[in-house]
Amino acid sequence: MGSYDHLYKTARWQRLRKFQLMAQPLCAMCAEAGRVTPAIIADHIEKHDGNRTKFFTGRLQSLCKSCHDSNKQKFEKTGIAYEYHCGCNEHGEPTDPKHPVNVWMREHGYESYDDVPGPPPPPRNRTS
Ligand SMILES: [Zn+2]
Repeated sequence: MGSYDHLYKTARWQRLRKFQLMAQPLCAMCAEAGRVTPAIIADHIEKHDGNRTKFFTGRLQSLCKSCHDSNKQKFEKTGIAYEYHCGCNEHGEPTDPKHPVNVWMREHGYESYDDVPGPPPPPRNRTS
């Protein structure tokens, strides 16, 4: 995202982002999974590749940081299902929903690492 900083810094984008998050304050991907998570990111549904028209007029969806970082970016790159990726969030937890740890959590009905009791069976990928 860094290379499009000049677009994200425009007043026009700041306004678009604000309206998107006001209109759709919850994360769209979490909502699909039945979770209620406040969205903090206005995400382009269609990849804009720095194209100003697409950037400013493309459809947006609201996402939380975790969904934005894990699902969207890799999906944009490949457009297809992918092998799991070892990216982590700021807590050192794998962000990819296909990561074995996350698959395990879903299978066992856990939504958050904090809900897992005792020592977690799958290894945590702590970075800090
Ligand atoms: Zn989310």
